[in-house]
Amino acid sequence: MPSVYIKTYGCQMNERDSEAVAAQLVAKGYSLAPSETVADVILLNTCSVRDLAEQKALRKMENLAAEIRRDRPEVVLGFMGCMAQSRGQELIDRLPDVDLVLGTQKFHRAADCLDEIIAGRRDKIVDVAEEPGSEATIREHLLNGNAQKSVTAYVSIMQGCNQYCTFCIVPYTRGEERSRTIPDIVSECRQLVAQGVKEITLLGQIVTSYGRRRFGRAEPPLGQDAQQRVPAQGKSPFVQLLDAVHEIEGLERIRFTAPHPKGYGDDLIEAYALLPKLVESAHLPVQSGSNRVLKLMHRGYTREQYLVLIEKLRRARPEIGISTDIIVGFPGETEDDFEQTLSLAREVEFDQAYIFKYSQRRDTPAADLPEQVPQKIREERNQRLLEVINEIAAVKYKKFVGRRTQILVEGPSRKNPARMTGRTRCNKIVVFDFAEREHRGRLMDVKITRASSFTLYGDPVIPD
Ligand code: SAM
Repeated sequence: MPSVYIKTYGCQMNERDSEAVAAQLVAKGYSLAPSETVADVILLNTCSVRDLAEQKALRKMENLAAEIRRDRPEVVLGFMGCMAQSRGQELIDRLPDVDLVLGTQKFHRAADCLDEIIAGRRDKIVDVAEEPGSEATIREHLLNGNAQKSVTAYVSIMQGCNQYCTFCIVPYTRGEERSRTIPDIVSECRQLVAQGVKEITLLGQIVTSYGRRRFGRAEPPLGQDAQQRVPAQGKSPFVQLLDAVHEIEGLERIRFTAPHPKGYGDDLIEAYALLPKLVESAHLPVQSGSNRVLKLMHRGYTREQYLVLIEKLRRARPEIGISTDIIVGFPGETEDDFEQTLSLAREVEFDQAYIFKYSQRRDTPAADLPEQVPQKIREERNQRLLEVINEIAAVKYKKFVGRRTQILVEGPSRKNPARMTGRTRCNKIVVFDFAEREHRGRLMDVKITRASSFTLYGDPVIPD
């Protein structure tokens, strides 16, 4: 059987989709090639969020066609995912060596399409149609394909996005929100835990919208009063899902990404207080600190509402680690708007922030706004914000030195396999010595001895 190499661009959702495709191909008898140079099939799973990511994948495919196809004309080349969805046939018109273009609702068809192409029954396949039910097809895992991942796993709970932020291409590449059922997700999580997984990250484009259009809120309990820690409206489907996953015996930790600040109702804040397996960590994309820009972005919250939310989360879990996404240079962003973003970053004291220079995406409303910010200013603002974020993070990380904290041991460090890594509940990576490989998957206390940028170093605490 042929061997396949999958290269993934972009977010955790894309990583998860690639893993599901790899698992599907392995189940059909394909092997996983260690590199593209020896693979019979090369698939690029693409990202469209920024132009840079698209250009990288296009250049990569051009090089593959020129270097690999030239010597081995039988190699099958394919694009999958977001750029495949948004560009479709255009990709083959531009790069005629490409054999397969598979959209975001068609990952489960990868093996069938490759079989057709390899058997010579079809020359080229472009499949980017919508497919009802496809949200439930990202469910196979490759736990032993990557030893590092077998302690932790991603579970896709939904696909698509209905938020339509004016900068964002995702609603056009991933389609409308579609959610899996709670029993289906719980059954996948149970299987993972039975195979040794200790930490599950629930994934979706906007997880706080999970099930909103399919199931609705739970009935509020009868006789509710102010003393009961249950929201008057009944729990949202996402919190019902958290409750159900929390019941799974043997599961130690639950994370989720990405939520939308607007989706944090009181029931979700309560969940942080009530569900011990839900770790003290939240990735809360703020995008800007200026209300004017937030409105232009169609984010649906103000700076003040965001700050109240942070305060509530810190009240529920004082140790919570908070990360965010911020866009600099959104069309019309003035120096004053940008300074409000700097001041918000200082006020919140994010543990980590992913900064994006605004990138014009086709078909999105912001791409046509008149006041596009010059590239040079986007670069400069990116640098200034990075300095503030790094400064704050350095102080926050240093505060861990001398403290004892619990980690989940994930496996050998990628940079130095002689050492081990784990993650704190608040999502900080800890590197340490003196642990055996069999400690992988265990919860362990470490004493932090040193901090560098975005990494902690420590020694395991030996119990008396
Ligand atoms: N669902 C999350 C939300 O909007 O709250 C985030 C998903 S998005 C794929 C990941 C991040 O990419 C966004 O939070 C945003 O900061 C960034 N991003 C999206 N579109 C962008 C664009 N056109 N230019 C620059 N950054 C962008």
